[in-house]
Amino acid sequence: MDCLFCKIIAGEIPSKKLYEDEKVLAFYDIDPQAPVHFLVVPKEHIPSPAAIDGENCAVVAHIYAVIAQLAKELKLEKGYRVVANCGEDGGQTVGHLHFHVLAGRLLAWPPG
Ligand code: AMP
Ligand code: ZN
Repeated sequence: MDCLFCKIIAGEIPSKKLYEDEKVLAFYDIDPQAPVHFLVVPKEHIPSPAAIDGENCAVVAHIYAVIAQLAKELKLEKGYRVVANCGEDGGQTVGHLHFHVLAGRLLAWPPG
């Protein structure tokens, strides 16, 4: 399948890995938008947040637990933001479900 993040998961494209287990991979974003910016993706190819359903949703809970653990390890005690862009208007550019984790500066709200 011609999917950038599936290729990163398979090790065909290099990434700066932060965490990996049998279900998920976390790696640093290639174009960071904050001092800390990493992505957490399910190893299963799920095309977008709109494709989350009763069959595949357990990995989403796991991803949030992994993010909380990584935030502790990275000492993000001042806080962080988790973002999942969906579709064209949501700003999604890679068609494999991913959760951005942004931290290290005060993040504007609402986003632009
Ligand atoms: P989105 O725009 O929400 O679909 O997010 C896709 C993210 O993937 C962007 O923040 C990109 O900077 C990031 N990205 C694209 N290619 C790579 C790559 N090879 N390694 C790490 N991050 C990437
Ligand atoms: Zn994929």
